[in-house]
Amino acid sequence: MTSGGDAPGMNAAIRSVVRACAYYRVSCVGIYRGYEGLIDADFIELTARSVNNIINKGGTILKSARSKEFRTKEGRKIAFENLKEQNIEGLIVIGGDGSFTGAVLFNEEYNFPVIGIPGTIDNDIFGTSHTIGYDTALNTAVEAIDKIRDTASSHNRLFFVEVMGRDAGFIALNAGVGAGAEEILIPEENLGLDRMLESLKKSRRTGKSSSIVVVAEGDKSGKNVYELAKYVEENLPEYDVRVSILGHMQRGGSPSCFDRVLASRLGVKSVELLLDGKTNLMVGLKDNEVISSSILEAIKGGHSINHELLRVSDIMTT
Ligand code: ATP
Repeated sequence: MTSGGDAPGMNAAIRSVVRACAYYRVSCVGIYRGYEGLIDADFIELTARSVNNIINKGGTILKSARSKEFRTKEGRKIAFENLKEQNIEGLIVIGGDGSFTGAVLFNEEYNFPVIGIPGTIDNDIFGTSHTIGYDTALNTAVEAIDKIRDTASSHNRLFFVEVMGRDAGFIALNAGVGAGAEEILIPEENLGLDRMLESLKKSRRTGKSSSIVVVAEGDKSGKNVYELAKYVEENLPEYDVRVSILGHMQRGGSPSCFDRVLASRLGVKSVELLLDGKTNLMVGLKDNEVISSSILEAIKGGHSINHELLRVSDIMTT
């Protein structure tokens, strides 16, 4: 199943799981709409041919959903009965930490084998250097910021560009460095608004006529992106400020080659773990090797931002 927010590359992961099952001659059932479909017994038998021509498609052919009912004991009981009825012996969940939390709880209650594949654009899961969808979202954001830069420099404007990331600044920091942003505001660090004003003033003094500030959705400045823009306009009237919110476009589109390869590798590993009788593991990438780690750690581990990259970003705005 795919669960929680959709991410580009989820289809490539589904394809990989299905084909690995076919390779090992075990049957594979797709569950529509995440835990919601599990409770509704919305299942489909998947064969190697069911997943033709989906590796390049964004979104998820199995659909995704958020299920309130699965958060209840009664909902999970129905889910278990549906799985038993279908003779399903293991569950692979492609999703984020919420989806993994549900899977762990389900395993605790019914001793049902579960394996997680990290699929979220936010890259905020402990135990893997990359989640499926992150690389594509990053490239989408950089491409969009490049386009905004064209108009920013034509009109000598300052643009605040909001990218996704309520709790994690991976997209903002990496897309910001990749697109040459003047300042980057992320949820993990509150560097203060004075610093941003200073940096913008300095840019003007040193002859920069346009600038881009990348802001993660959940940045800690205490102001939303419009309030930030207003704050700068009030304090630096020489700037002509605009706001652009990239929004859901960051979730869509054809997955990058990196995400397709990652999804293919993680899908195979997840099936092999289940066949080895393993449970409560998440597959992931570490030093470009496919690994498995405790799914509990994945949920509880949190994430940290790359300080070296923050430093590089600072130096680049000199
Ligand atoms: P994303 O990171 O993209 O938001 P996610 O997997 O974290 O993805 P959530 O909406 O947090 O997305 O979780 C997906 C689903 O997992 C929820 O709708 C719910 O059905 C289930 N779930 C989450 N937390 C729990 C929990 N504590 N108990 C039972 N089920 C849960």
